[in-house]
Amino acid sequence: MKHSLRLMKIADIDIGVHYTWVFIFMLLTWALSQGFFPQLYPDWETTTYWITGGAAALLLFASVLIHELAHSLVAKARGIPVTSITLFILGGVSNLEEEPEKPRVELAMAIVGPLASLTLAGIFWGLLQLVQDTQSPLAGMLTYLALVNTILAAFNLLPGFPLDGGRVLRSILWQKTGDLVKATNIAATVGRYMGWALIALGLLLAFGGNLGGLWLAFIGWFLSTSADASRRQVTMREQLSGVLVKEVMAANPISISPDTTVSEMVSNVFRRQLSRAVPVCQDERVLGIASVTDVKELPREKWTETPVSEIMTSEPLHRVSPEDDLNTAMKLITDHDINQVLVLDGSKCAGLVHRADILNYLQLSQELGLQKNPRPRDR
Ligand SMILES: [Zn+2]
Repeated sequence: MKHSLRLMKIADIDIGVHYTWVFIFMLLTWALSQGFFPQLYPDWETTTYWITGGAAALLLFASVLIHELAHSLVAKARGIPVTSITLFILGGVSNLEEEPEKPRVELAMAIVGPLASLTLAGIFWGLLQLVQDTQSPLAGMLTYLALVNTILAAFNLLPGFPLDGGRVLRSILWQKTGDLVKATNIAATVGRYMGWALIALGLLLAFGGNLGGLWLAFIGWFLSTSADASRRQVTMREQLSGVLVKEVMAANPISISPDTTVSEMVSNVFRRQLSRAVPVCQDERVLGIASVTDVKELPREKWTETPVSEIMTSEPLHRVSPEDDLNTAMKLITDHDINQVLVLDGSKCAGLVHRADILNYLQLSQELGLQKNPRPRDR
């Protein structure tokens, strides 16, 4: 994820925090030391409030991390690669390289997060029982952590996608119907309505004078927008899966040699062919790809003297094969924020897949209601 700070590595997973977390950490420390703790424990010193507040906020952070690690470790154990976990404003995000292939795997992955939070709540509550002085900062901190982990578990178990509970709901529907898109649509619709309900409840509380309601409304807004985004993403992924790169690519593109000048490329290729990128080849071997983006970085007065080899992208050269699934191409395009990938057949250039071609394909199959050829899920 962008805008995040790398903290450490656990079990080969990069752990990072999104920059918003720093802000939330300060806000939370302030709310705990000025609101929560003074209300429950009026006899502490001012510095005690701040220190306990800061420590409790950090331990909440650790609790969220354990919740996310539980998801990630189960995913890894089931063979789904996890590269990183980013902790951000409302919790965490595990970056899975793939989605689960089977409902059972999704169910197991989703349920362990809330289970981990509940276990933590139990541990903090158990420790609280061992503390003699119930008015001490330690007792206050343990009380807060037991409470907040219970809330985390309960909130995440709400059955709206993409919350954990929504994933559980989706996996059950998926198991029943065998249709991932349909299951996602239902679970995401529940997620959207649940988000609206939280917004309404939050605003009602806020108008009643409880400003914490604004926070609830914000969470509701976040839930409903991510429900929509996840649904679109899953629908797209499902529509593209089983469609091969060769069905959509621009085949046999013209290529240019590395010593062509930039101005020749612009007038002979980009302007004449209305293309935005061209493979650079020598003796049938692909050396790189030159695109409009590369040209824009070069001042115009240097176009006539600069060979394409100086501006082309050669490393890392993102490539797919004609037999690859379109999702592979789309993932490369979105992950690296590029507009096209090269299609290589062995070392020979077979074509280019543009972002626009994939979007057009999606648009067309949606407008005409075309179904792709059914293919078994187990490959
Ligand atoms: Zn979770």
